[in-house]
Amino acid sequence: MHYFQYRNNEMFCEDVPVQAIARQVGTPFYLYSHATLTRHFNAFNDAFGGLDRLVCFSAKANTSLAVLKLLANLGSGLDIVSGGELFRGLKAGFSPDRIVYSGVGKRVDEIDFALETGILMFNVESLEELELIQMRAEALRKKARVSIRVNPDVDPKTHPYISTGLKKNKFGIDTESAISAYQRASRMSHISVVGIDCHIGSQITEIQPFEDALKSLKNLIQRLGNMGIPIRHLDMGGGLGITYREESPPHPIDYARAIAHVLGDLKIQLILEPGRVIVGNAGILVARVLYRKKGLAKEFVITDAAMNDLMRPILYNAYHEAMPVVRAEGESFTADIVGPICETGDFLAQDRLIPPVQSGDLLALMSAGAYGFVMSSNYCSRLRAAEVMVKGDQFVVVKDRETYADLIAGESIPDFL
Ligand SMILES: *Cc1c(COP(=O)(O)O)cnc(C)c1O
Repeated sequence: MHYFQYRNNEMFCEDVPVQAIARQVGTPFYLYSHATLTRHFNAFNDAFGGLDRLVCFSAKANTSLAVLKLLANLGSGLDIVSGGELFRGLKAGFSPDRIVYSGVGKRVDEIDFALETGILMFNVESLEELELIQMRAEALRKKARVSIRVNPDVDPKTHPYISTGLKKNKFGIDTESAISAYQRASRMSHISVVGIDCHIGSQITEIQPFEDALKSLKNLIQRLGNMGIPIRHLDMGGGLGITYREESPPHPIDYARAIAHVLGDLKIQLILEPGRVIVGNAGILVARVLYRKKGLAKEFVITDAAMNDLMRPILYNAYHEAMPVVRAEGESFTADIVGPICETGDFLAQDRLIPPVQSGDLLALMSAGAYGFVMSSNYCSRLRAAEVMVKGDQFVVVKDRETYADLIAGESIPDFL
């Protein structure tokens, strides 16, 4: 459930007409609903109510400081994949002991930053990374808490680009190699083994793959226990899907129930890293229609938002519902919604039945709160969009639209030119 609803044919975000924001802020812009974010986080967190758990929002889905701060206020922890996300997380007020750090390519400076910060744990993805963390922890006289990201080789049945727990993927360490990695880690002077971790993919709409992954991790925990390596935290990663169109992903309550069932009486703290399920349907992208254009084979609706603003359609063939901000009378028609960029891949929707819109109208691309703004770029020297948050009857621009000056910030023309 989200708070983007029509009242008398006009789309509101909570109690604010979307049109009013567009008038003041210009287009395109991302719009986030405070009430929806709150509801989604609480629904997820409460679903695990009976369990010792820490929900660590996955920053990479949406790193807006305002969104992060809101979630920190609700008691969320943070799952990061870069030094930049750590920086943002600290700025937003996350306590370091609620931050976990995943990713296959952590750099020395990022490892040092996390060690100095004193995060809850590194989710280690290779032996070389483990050695490097040990070295840096020794140099900085710190003890690094680690878990090993295990690749349980389960098929999450999602888009290949967001499947991460298969043998052929770059992520994690296979089960058998993980055992020897744990043995190695447990003998390291500046490493403290505290957890086990997996993340099998994203936009997962079935429970079975999660159950399979968890069974595999549970089995490993028991084997490690027998070897005298106790595990305190079990990190299930993120990946729970959302409804973009007609998907019917499990409700967090069903997901939590399944996990609790497989866990049984295992005594560990559960860590969860939801991203999309918290922010996906809590945000939309609002664009203005520039032109309608009839080609010989197709009709096009050209908007001022493009693939640089919302990359998911071309990257994952993703579906975002396109809704009129003000519903008008007239005939729906089939068209592609495209941006101004000189690429055939610059589309937001293809062969879509579109409500009657014309030049000057506003369109809302729904379910754009996750992997939307964070993936945007300056391609074609386009200014990145503004971000706005609504709470009740007020809205605040939480990130200014970029300016032409921002576009060349940090650039210089060398003297020899
Ligand atoms: C991307 C990612 C997540 C979040 O995935 P969602 O599908 O958005 O829930 C969680 N953990 C890790 C390690 C990730 O890379």
